[in-house]
Amino acid sequence: MKVLVADQINEKGIDELKDIAEVIVQTDITPEELVESIADYDGIIVRSRTKVVREVIEAGRKLKIIARAGVGVDNVDVAAATEKGIMVVNAPESTSITVAEHTMGIILSLARKIAIADKSVKEGKWEKSKFMGSELSGKTLGIIGMGRIGSQVATRCKAFNMEILVNDPYITEDVAARLGAKIVERDTLFKDSDVISIHVPLTPETRHSISAEQFKQMKNTAFIINCARGGIINEDDLYDSLVNGDIGGAGLDVFENEPPVDSPLLGLDNLVATPHIGASTQEAQRDAAIIVAKEIKKVLTGGSPKNVLNMPVMDPETMLLLKPYFELMAKLGKFLIQTAKGNINEIHVTYCGDLSEFPKLDMLTRMILQEILNPILTEPVNLVNAMAVAENRGITVIEGKRCEVHGYESLVRVEMKSDSNDIVIEGVTNKEPKIVLINGYKVDVETEGHLLISTYQDIPGVIGAIGTKLGEHEINIAKMQVGRKAPGGEAVMVLKIDQTVPENVLDDLKELEQVYDAVIVNL
Ligand code: NAD
Repeated sequence: MKVLVADQINEKGIDELKDIAEVIVQTDITPEELVESIADYDGIIVRSRTKVVREVIEAGRKLKIIARAGVGVDNVDVAAATEKGIMVVNAPESTSITVAEHTMGIILSLARKIAIADKSVKEGKWEKSKFMGSELSGKTLGIIGMGRIGSQVATRCKAFNMEILVNDPYITEDVAARLGAKIVERDTLFKDSDVISIHVPLTPETRHSISAEQFKQMKNTAFIINCARGGIINEDDLYDSLVNGDIGGAGLDVFENEPPVDSPLLGLDNLVATPHIGASTQEAQRDAAIIVAKEIKKVLTGGSPKNVLNMPVMDPETMLLLKPYFELMAKLGKFLIQTAKGNINEIHVTYCGDLSEFPKLDMLTRMILQEILNPILTEPVNLVNAMAVAENRGITVIEGKRCEVHGYESLVRVEMKSDSNDIVIEGVTNKEPKIVLINGYKVDVETEGHLLISTYQDIPGVIGAIGTKLGEHEINIAKMQVGRKAPGGEAVMVLKIDQTVPENVLDDLKELEQVYDAVIVNL
């Protein structure tokens, strides 16, 4: 067997492979040479220089695995690899400790004014009284995003005798408790923390999610640290808060524009800045090389790798039979993640009717999980890793068969339990995917476009009030459905609308008397 190492990686990774394969190191290989020679190789390791494009993948006749010795896989055409049944693996955990340690460095630098004191001493000054610091012991750390890196920061701050608060709507109490942390609301975290550290991915939801409002809630001595992604903090508001003394200090390894040329933040003494070096250590690079080498070894010797980012293509016969359900699964997953509140604990998928006769349906379950987990995690969740990711996050996934099909040939029922709400939906494919039940209410909802789902007390005038409110904001209703269990009791209304509903309008709807809840689902 032959493995090509196309970019510079740590020697330990190469050593790891030598007993099972002939390892060819060609770190100056050109794109043309790569296309010409890839047919000889069973596996390839790259960092970021080499682009594993479709042309390379299609020429890789024996190729079974593409390994990226690092985290992002922007330089690998994952879709092309999936089509050819070639696994793509990476080393997402290789940088977690490194970034966590960098975060600790920034926290300590802020608490003890190390960076600014260093500058002062090197300027020939000896300003002992100017650099009065604060201890971390006994203080409270607030972690936003308790994934791989957030967890490592929590463990380290625990050793500094800090109390740990966490805001991460997607982890369970159990996971937090294992790390000695307490789950709190965002507002509580901002108000009660002495140090706040951000470890969420940059998503539409997290972009500028920390701005003037949050800085105003913070203690005026508190520090905020961002070693995640630029753009999560609103930098203009951060500057004002640091200058006005709303907060004590900030530490940034990442900026909205990198490098942050002309940023006024860089002139402030209460800001510690580093040039996006959170992941830059010898050890992270060594670990990435060893991790991917071990993955290649497993694949080439018939084992199962753990960091697979794609999946080999399904056998064509099963694919054809299950294909009508693929879109339904994706839509059910999208619906559930947008209606979930709090930490998800359990997802129960039941296959009913003809569909339940299939021997293996876990691929469909994975499709739902993929849609639920992808919007909240940094690394891509796919059909191969979906179950493992759910398990790691403390989410119990249960698969069942046989339930009432209500006259349909087949039906999929999903129950999702979280700390704050339970949702039960049922879907069918009747030419197009449809949702036919929401929390006990029979409906007939197309899984497309924007849906406004409201629960309310079934008395005259409520439906009109909701319609009027939407009309005031020029939001057009395309279709309406209502369902109720008994007159005068709780009812559900599903409106298909021509555009999404802004947060403030949604808040107005929830303020209406007799409206219990309103949520927007964009499918
Ligand atoms: P991860 O996917 O393991 O964890 C992210 C966590 O954020 C998850 O637990 C998720 O549930 C949570 N989350 C998602 N949306 C949230 C929200 N709106 N509010 C609260 N929590 C939310 O990711 P990771 O590997 O720990 O990486 C964390 C961040 O660090 C990412 O932004 C990543 O890009 C960044 N990173 C930076 C560097 C660097 O060089 N500075 C290096 C590696 C990673």
